Amino acid sequence: MKETDALAEMFADAGARICFDEPMARLTTWRIGGPADILVEPVDVEQVRAAVSVAKQIDLPVFTVGRGSNLLVRDGGVRGMVIHLGDAFSRLEISGDRLRVQAGRAVMSAAFVAMRQGLSGLEFATLIPGSVGGAVTMNAGAHGGEIKDVLSTVTVLTQTHEVLTMPASELSFAYRHSKVPECGWIVLEAEFQLVPGDPEQMQEKVRAWGRKRQQTQPLSYPNCGSVFRNPPGDHAARLIEAAGLKGARVGQAAISDLHANFIVNLGEARATDVLALIQRAKDAVEAQFGVRLQTEVRVVGEDETRR
Ligand SMILES: Cc1cc2nc3c(=O)[nH]c(=O)nc-3n(C[C@H](O)[C@H](O)[C@H](O)COP(=O)(O)OP(=O)(O)OC[C@H]3O[C@@H](n4cnc5c(N)ncnc54)[C@H](O)[C@@H]3O)c2cc1C
Repeated sequence: MKETDALAEMFADAGARICFDEPMARLTTWRIGGPADILVEPVDVEQVRAAVSVAKQIDLPVFTVGRGSNLLVRDGGVRGMVIHLGDAFSRLEISGDRLRVQAGRAVMSAAFVAMRQGLSGLEFATLIPGSVGGAVTMNAGAHGGEIKDVLSTVTVLTQTHEVLTMPASELSFAYRHSKVPECGWIVLEAEFQLVPGDPEQMQEKVRAWGRKRQQTQPLSYPNCGSVFRNPPGDHAARLIEAAGLKGARVGQAAISDLHANFIVNLGEARATDVLALIQRAKDAVEAQFGVRLQTEVRVVGEDETRR
């Protein structure tokens, strides 16, 4: 395709990457996922814009991936173009109590920088293994904090290729939800309004949370964090455990016997294994407790048989 050739040339000149048929497994924390037709790893905003505009010209769907820590990619992979905002989008600046950071940086890294500078508000994010862009998109949260509580503005690339900065209040945040996916925006940068805090006290709090996670989460296997959203007033893990599914296995995927809202990859798990466990958990919990669980992880791509 001459449009993608031109993009490849522009990217090569600027040190960015474009690959074809690239396994998504290397971009997800579950280490699962078939190939992306085209994977682009731009190094600046102009390249993101160029990639999106080529995709539009040749009618390719575009999907943005951050650190793949909330993503199940089906075994047949993703049709169209996947844009990966990685380490090239890591710039971070602090001005007074405000922290401005690009979308590809790990949100935990941004949170640790803030803490060391004596700025409080993002401590909860020190344990979340996603990118800033993914954390904004998902309204990630933990330990009583959520991105929406500290985000002041966000800069996105719109579907009409404009770079827009808007107040956080325009993102329709809710529990693990923002309107970023439905608008087809690509988050480029976020600005957080923090407050002064004592670094020692913040670090102590974060260490205690970390110790608790080490004991309660199966972190030695590839996983995607919580698979299901917590239903109102309850916990998905409690319901799945009560349904007797701790340790249940399909192929190389298992519902963790440490934390029932985690599905772990025991080695060579496939997306179909994980999807079968998701279905089994949904059915069992609904049959026994009348609650229909909803996934928190985003499921994308196609089944293998359709290729
Ligand atoms: C061990 C573990 C623990 C976890 N603990 C927590 C927790 O405590 N709290 C919590 O909320 N989550 C948790 N998660 C889930 C996950 O880390 C968060 O949802 C995180 O915010 C996802 O960020 P990501 O960059 O990995 O996004 P991805 O998984 O790459 O993508 C998730 C969604 O965001 C979109 N997206 C990503 N980047 C952009 C961008 N720049 N612009 C537009 N859209 C984008 C994707 O298209 C997709 O729809 C955990 C995961 C793991 C593996």
